Amino acid sequence: MIDRESAEQLIDLAGRYARDKIAPRVAAYDQEERFPRDLLAEMAELGFFGGTVPVDDGGAGLDFVTFVSFIEEISKVCHMMGCLLSMPSGLVGASISDFGTDEQKRRWLGPLAAGTMFGAAGVTEPGSGSDVAGMQTTYVRDGDEYVISGSKAWISNLDIASFLITFATSDRSLRHKGISAFIIPTDAVGLGLHPYEDKFGFRPICTGDVILDDVRVGADALLGEEGAGFSVAMAAVERGRLGVASRSVGVAQACLDAARSYAVDRHAFGRSIAAFQIVQSKVTDMEVGVATARLLVRHAAEALDRGERARKLTSMAKMYASDVAHRSATDAFQIHGAYGVSPEFAIGRYLRDSKVLQIVEGSNDLHRALIGEMSLGLREVS
Ligand SMILES: Cc1cc2nc3c(=O)[nH]c(=O)nc-3n(C[C@H](O)[C@H](O)[C@H](O)COP(=O)(O)OP(=O)(O)OC[C@H]3O[C@@H](n4cnc5c(N)ncnc54)[C@H](O)[C@@H]3O)c2cc1C
Repeated sequence: MIDRESAEQLIDLAGRYARDKIAPRVAAYDQEERFPRDLLAEMAELGFFGGTVPVDDGGAGLDFVTFVSFIEEISKVCHMMGCLLSMPSGLVGASISDFGTDEQKRRWLGPLAAGTMFGAAGVTEPGSGSDVAGMQTTYVRDGDEYVISGSKAWISNLDIASFLITFATSDRSLRHKGISAFIIPTDAVGLGLHPYEDKFGFRPICTGDVILDDVRVGADALLGEEGAGFSVAMAAVERGRLGVASRSVGVAQACLDAARSYAVDRHAFGRSIAAFQIVQSKVTDMEVGVATARLLVRHAAEALDRGERARKLTSMAKMYASDVAHRSATDAFQIHGAYGVSPEFAIGRYLRDSKVLQIVEGSNDLHRALIGEMSLGLREVS
C-alpha cells in the first residue's frame, strides 16, 4: 500500500494529466468513437493502469480510497478514460485477481495492470442483462477441453481486447449454479466480434456483440472452479460498480464546474443569471449531490480496504452517484440554455453519458430493488 503523500502526488498527477493531455482531445475522440492510442500508451508509461492490482501481480497496489479519488480525477475530464483505467482493478481484472491461477495472473493480469494489454468482460447477453443467471450461452466438456456456444451483447473493448472473460452454463435449468467462467483469447477460432456504431453515449469505447460458435478452449481457460462462475461474475461487478460510482462523481463535479462558470458569465435581464434563485437552487443541488456521492463512494472504498465485502455499499454508491451525475447534467444543461446543444460545450456529452451510467453494471432500477431487499433482510448482504 502506498503512503498518503505518494497517494496525493498520484492523484495530483492524474488531474494535471487529464487537464493538459486529455481535455484538449476528448470532444474529438468522443465524436470519432475511439480512444487515442498514444494517450493510452502514455498512461501505461505513467503506471495509471496498475490500480488496486497487487504489486506482486504487476499492479500498483493502491488502496481503494486512493483508487476512487484517482478515477474521479481523470473522470472530471473524461470518465471513459476513467472506465478504461478502472478495468484492471474492476470488471476485467478483479475476477482474475480473486480467482485466477498463478499462470492466469502472470499471463493476463500483469500485462493488464501494466496497460500493455486490454481485456473485455462478457456477461450481458441479447436476452439477459440484469438477470445474469438467465444466460443462454452453454458449454460442454470434451476430454480436457471445453466447447462454448452462444452470444453476448453490449460487450466493451472489442477493438483493443486481447482476451475476453466470459460466462457459460453447463445446464440452463441450474440457473446460477450451472455457470462457469472462462478466459478466451480474442483470436480463438469461432469467436466473432461485431462492434456497434454511432452509440448515443459512451462513444469512445468500442462496444458490440460477441458470437461464440463452438469455441474450443483448454482446461487452463477455466477461471475459478467449475460451477463457480456466478461468484466470479459478482466479484467483478462489485468492484466494477465502485469504478462506475467514482466516474459518476467525476462527471457530476464536471457538471457543477461547467454550470458555475457559465452561470457567472451569462447575462439575462441586465444581470448575471447566477443572480436568479432558481439557478442558485440547481447549483445547490449539484454541490450537495457531489459532496454526498463522494462521501458514499469513499465509504464503500473504506469497507473494501478493511477487507469486507461491500455488495450493498457498492450498489448504493453506484446507484446514488450516477443518479446525482444525471440530475446534475440535466440541471447544468438547463443553465446552459441553447448553448447546451452546441458541440462547443461539454455538457451535451455529460448528459448523454450520465444517462448510460445509470444503466451499466446493473440498471439503477435493479440496484434500487437489491438495496431494498438487502435492507429488509430478504437478500444476503455479503
Ligand atoms: C455502453 C455500454 C457498455 C456496456 N459494456 C458492457 C460490458 O463490457 N460487459 C457486459 O457484460 N455488459 C456491458 N453492458 C451491458 C450492461 O451492463 C447492461 O445493459 C445492464 O446490465 C442492464 O441490462 P439490460 O440492458 O439487458 O437491461 P434489462 O435487464 O433488460 O432491464 C431493462 C430495464 O428493466 C427494468 N428491470 C430489469 N430487472 C429489474 C429488477 N430486478 N428490478 C427492477 N427493475 C428491473 C429496469 O428498468 C431496467 O433498466 C454495457 C452496456 C452499455 C450501454
